[in-house]
Amino acid sequence: MLMPRSLSLLAGGSDVRRGVDLFACPLAAACFFMTVRAWPPGATIKIFLPDNQPTLTAWLPDFIYTGGRFESDLALLSDRAGRITQLTRGYDKLAARVVRLKGRALLPGLVNAHSHAFQRVIRGRTERRSASHDSFWTWREMMYAAATRLAPEDVYDASRMAFLEMAASGITAVGEFHYLHHAPGGARYADENELAKQVVRAAADVGIRIALLRVAYARAGWNAPPDARQARFIERDPEAFLKQTETLKNDLARVAPASDGARREFAAGDAEEARGAWVGVAPHSVRAVPLDYLREVCAFAATHALPVHMHVAEQPAEIAACMEEHGRTPVALLAGEGLLNERFTAVHAVHITPEEARSLAAAHAHVCACPTTERNLGDGIVPADLLLAAGVRVSLGTDSHTQIDLLEDARELEYHLRLQKLERAVLAPETDAATNALPAQTSHEPKDETNSLAARLFDCATTNGAAGIGANGGALEPGRTADFFTVALDDLSIAGAAADDLLPAVVFSLARTAVRDVVVGGRPIVEDGQHRTRDEIIERFTNLQRRLWR
Ligand SMILES: [Zn+2]
Repeated sequence: MLMPRSLSLLAGGSDVRRGVDLFACPLAAACFFMTVRAWPPGATIKIFLPDNQPTLTAWLPDFIYTGGRFESDLALLSDRAGRITQLTRGYDKLAARVVRLKGRALLPGLVNAHSHAFQRVIRGRTERRSASHDSFWTWREMMYAAATRLAPEDVYDASRMAFLEMAASGITAVGEFHYLHHAPGGARYADENELAKQVVRAAADVGIRIALLRVAYARAGWNAPPDARQARFIERDPEAFLKQTETLKNDLARVAPASDGARREFAAGDAEEARGAWVGVAPHSVRAVPLDYLREVCAFAATHALPVHMHVAEQPAEIAACMEEHGRTPVALLAGEGLLNERFTAVHAVHITPEEARSLAAAHAHVCACPTTERNLGDGIVPADLLLAAGVRVSLGTDSHTQIDLLEDARELEYHLRLQKLERAVLAPETDAATNALPAQTSHEPKDETNSLAARLFDCATTNGAAGIGANGGALEPGRTADFFTVALDDLSIAGAAADDLLPAVVFSLARTAVRDVVVGGRPIVEDGQHRTRDEIIERFTNLQRRLWR
């Protein structure tokens, strides 16, 4: 519900607003009222804010990570629309409300660029030998066992569980690679985007932003017979796929579910990426999508400037099949067809050559690595050294959700290469080696991290992911969405760190217990480590698991 700006203050005065808990509308929708926690506890009143009152919120932690360094005594100011207006030390005359975050450091929200939320239900159920040689392909059998059974409400409950864990670990936006479209057996739902909307609803109810990357899945493989277990994914007709994608795009652009169950219209001027949910396309893989179909999907994405995500070179068998069908590797095929560009993200890109890394870079394409999943599935190691040296922007995804901790993915990107090459600091930029040849004398001065190994990995978890899924966040700068998280400086995992070593401590050592506040569009979704609907989400998910597996 949108209220006219001319409404006057209905309750309280400007002094009343100071020091109370105010909650802006969810997900950056431009609303002009706030709800105040009142006395006695449980009672609420609504305050309508007139135009001539300051409405900015100042967030004041011990440190803010901005511009490649941790700064102290700095406040981040966010407006009612959920955007950052400035970072300043002179906040007291500007802000209507000051949120002191003592003993905490504030960092940009993490962006999870590759997720299959429903796969949260198979966590812990695939860690045993099921064949003489277990692999990605035997794991997929178990995944199909879950994918063929989930009802729409189950998809909501599983997704909400995954998104809750993301929020609790500092993730504020997700790229959801969504391929469950139809009812079990393949029948169409009355609304063919029923399941996509359940996933979007789950993200909105948890409070994180979502790029719903709608998956095109046309076949089991080249010359492969249809697989009944893929019936929920399959759309053989590219026109039908694109029609449903456009419908979803328009639906999400108009309204999005809000966390209180209401459906709010967005203000006409809101940029799409500042909203809670938007659409991208995801041709599943060269195995699952014929070339003509792929061309049509990419042309549609170009027309609408949508992100395009695709599994690329995850498994050697995929490369072999592509060679057999097209006479080229997947990357060579995509490059040759002119389908790589700055909106394209190749997910995994494990089995690629140096030349292919250079061709991804030349096209300004992104790569999304998912190291915790790739190690779990035995996929192999993403050659991030080749990719970063070539200039490819690498993002990170938690993918199958064996573990949801994007900073673990960030450090694994480096650690896998250390084990492979028997070296340390493999992904450190050249300039990092020059400036850090000797251990720094501890000055506790803010250190420019722009060219450090830790900053490079942190960029993968933030700015690179945001660019890959078309989100506006990823960094703490004026004009960006106020999406961030805080960490407790006295948490066991980072205690003792100061401005000069805090970022490496966060990237290589942070435990999830350190994450205290998570804010999306200026609105807290996790406060002091707790999400307000945590218990209900866990209870419903536990019931789902009981029904599915026992
Ligand atoms: Zn995937």
